[in-house]
Amino acid sequence: MTPLEYDRSFIWHPYASLKTPPPVRLARSASGVEIELADGRRLIDAVSSWWCVAHGHNHPAIVEAIRRQSEKMCHVMFGGFTHEPAVVLAEKLAAFAPAGLDRVFFADSGSISVEVAAKMAVQYHTALGHPERCRILALKGGYHGDTSLCMALSDPDGMHTLFKGLMTSHLFADKPACPFDGDWNPADARSLVNTVDAHRHEIAAVICEPVFQAANAMNFYHPAYLREMRRLCDETGALLIFDEIAAGFYRTGPRWAQDHASATPDIMTVGKALTGGHLTLAATLASARVAEAISNGRPTAFMHGPTFMANPLACAAASASLDLFTSGDYAANVKRIEDWFSRRLMPLKDLPNVVDVRILGAVAVVEMQRLPSQTDISDVIDKHNVWLRPFCNFIYAMPPLVSDERTIGRIASAMMDLASRPPDTTPMDSDFHE
Ligand SMILES: *Cc1c(COP(=O)(O)O)cnc(C)c1O
Repeated sequence: MTPLEYDRSFIWHPYASLKTPPPVRLARSASGVEIELADGRRLIDAVSSWWCVAHGHNHPAIVEAIRRQSEKMCHVMFGGFTHEPAVVLAEKLAAFAPAGLDRVFFADSGSISVEVAAKMAVQYHTALGHPERCRILALKGGYHGDTSLCMALSDPDGMHTLFKGLMTSHLFADKPACPFDGDWNPADARSLVNTVDAHRHEIAAVICEPVFQAANAMNFYHPAYLREMRRLCDETGALLIFDEIAAGFYRTGPRWAQDHASATPDIMTVGKALTGGHLTLAATLASARVAEAISNGRPTAFMHGPTFMANPLACAAASASLDLFTSGDYAANVKRIEDWFSRRLMPLKDLPNVVDVRILGAVAVVEMQRLPSQTDISDVIDKHNVWLRPFCNFIYAMPPLVSDERTIGRIASAMMDLASRPPDTTPMDSDFHE
């Protein structure tokens, strides 16, 4: 059996069938904005390998940090031990994060950091004598990960409906509809206000992806919505959780998506680009108020602890990644990417199968009536040597933040070609995820 044949028969891929496996490509190496295939072809990674490869693949500074750390210690349990990579990273992360979020819990993936955030919120209220405050309010159209609590906080009509039986029911407000750069209409927050009002004594926290609802909606909404959320939380004592896993680290322009609104949460989750996409690591950051309340409760311990918590290799990678973020002008790079995309892609609005084109920072979304066929998608990837991974009815790009104009031009050409192809007429199967 060739590796590809073995793969097809025995290995599940994300949101994929083992019966009718979608095509996969054999990747051999990756550097900069490109992934090299086993046959020597090189594809531009227009989705930053699910939005995490912010500085490009195999960045020499990050690879070197991992190599150096690997010679000393690849892993040690975080229960009963600490180590320099974790301490250095925690300090850098607190300095990089919005002011006041300096208490750090290291998790091993984005989903786990969201679970941890929700547990912190519940433990906070329990410590304050309100164990009945154990529900989370989330937004329709949101996405917070694939584990069961995260599914329960993601869009109730989204990709996880199959598992309704496994999920606890939480609360949802309507998907924000006011566009990012439109006029703010306070009616947009009415459902949020009403839901908070009706459940104020049982809500532990409100969670959202600030400004950019990614995997379930590709929706950019108005920053004033976040200020309204902050106000409601202050008024009712609910904690505010911002999930910056997709939108953080300059993806939408500023360092954090919440910076568009100057609203700060009580708890924030980061992941994806944290290590520049080199190793898996996420973190939950909390304010002193949250941490101190938990510490004064019973138990005083915060009740979570994954096996690979604060893995030293991942911490070293994240530290090097943060150094890159602080030494380069990422906001300016991203602004240029936004302009390059806008110039090329906005005219697609006139195509018959295109519903809308939305661009914010280094995110370009072409919303289609319906995607072209899988054959057309593969054909476009191979013809342009640009790796795209459309889902639902979205053709989108979230390229590495270091992409130059030529790279963005090639990505835009591939997207234009794809958006011009006819809509698929066969029923959709499983390829639903980002
Ligand atoms: C990807 C993502 C997650 C989940 O992160 P994983 O590392 O895949 O577990 C959570 N929240 C948001 C907003 C995401 O985009």
